Amino acid sequence: MNIPFLDLRAPHEELRAELRAAFERVLDSAWFIQGAEVKQFEGEFAAYCQSDHCIGVGNGLEALHLILCAYGLGCGDEVIVPSNTYIATWLAVTHTGARPVPVDPDEVTYNLSPEKIEAAITSRTKAIVAVHLYGQPADMDAINAIAQRHGLKVIEDAAQAHGAWYKGRRVGSLGDAAGFSFYPSKNLGALGDGGAVTTNDPVLAERVRTLGNYGSKVKYQHDVIGYNSRLDEVQAAFLRIKLRHLDGWNERRREIAGHYLSALAGSGLVLPGVLIDTQPVWHLFVVQVEQRETLQKRLLQAGISTMIHYPIPPHRASAYVEGWGDQGSCIIADRLAARVLSLPLDPYMPDESVARVVQAIRS
Ligand SMILES: *Cc1c(COP(=O)(O)O)cnc(C)c1O
Repeated sequence: MNIPFLDLRAPHEELRAELRAAFERVLDSAWFIQGAEVKQFEGEFAAYCQSDHCIGVGNGLEALHLILCAYGLGCGDEVIVPSNTYIATWLAVTHTGARPVPVDPDEVTYNLSPEKIEAAITSRTKAIVAVHLYGQPADMDAINAIAQRHGLKVIEDAAQAHGAWYKGRRVGSLGDAAGFSFYPSKNLGALGDGGAVTTNDPVLAERVRTLGNYGSKVKYQHDVIGYNSRLDEVQAAFLRIKLRHLDGWNERRREIAGHYLSALAGSGLVLPGVLIDTQPVWHLFVVQVEQRETLQKRLLQAGISTMIHYPIPPHRASAYVEGWGDQGSCIIADRLAARVLSLPLDPYMPDESVARVVQAIRS
């Protein structure tokens, strides 16, 4: 039996009847945009994230983009971003007209190094986007302290970290605002695209909601140049069902990650480090290995699928490489891109599969 990297069939098979009923409910209501399901999901997800407000939006990229727009960022501004992230983090900044300024991560937690942020701050810097990469909370106390000293906004990119804890608080309530993605493979995934913004700032919440709805608060009255970025009723209905399972799924992810961490200690792989007083949700279990291609090929021969997140860092993407002055400035991101390997990890993975991955790596 092959071990897939991620099994998206299993959770939806288990929830098939509930998902069908939710779909029928929306179908019967004949109300597909901005209705009761989205409203209820927003309340439930805000409460889950320990956040005052939640606004459903079209996807994770737009969640981040709308936050930055709502804060008025634009040409001439700079935003600090991790050098090693999914490109969406950078694109959200670029789309406002501001410039993403990459900062290299800590090599063991894969998240922003607070010590390196301050050196990248200039008079143009307006915000820091902290990514909770692979489901591990970034060091938000340290990042918030720097932001406070320099008068910057802090935005969480929580697209990979639904439900993670940082010092007793949920991700999504740790900065000025947070962007979530419900892309199907995320810890909380829709059956299509979806996203959300969470924040404790009522003014920002109102602005994001207006911007995502054609710049309109009252139908046919358009106050600002807006966008169309809304979560729809069908996806919200699905997400409400899946949200009830998120803690259980994340618990199983922690169990598997815990097993990997103990069973692979001393195997020659560099294992991910966890900040104290945090509970990651292990969106991905990413190791570092010198002979990556060899290991990946051997594992595949044993029927085990792995992936690379991400093989090309944003500053090396064709979209960004042109006009990028200093190619040598993201040394750690380059190093990680050459060495990282994501092992299979999903909540429906049986213990025997976890054991087989460990055994295959050890041999
Ligand atoms: C998935 C992801 C996004 C973008 O989310 P979409 O819903 O695909 O637009 C942004 N940031 C990170 C870190 C992600 O993993």
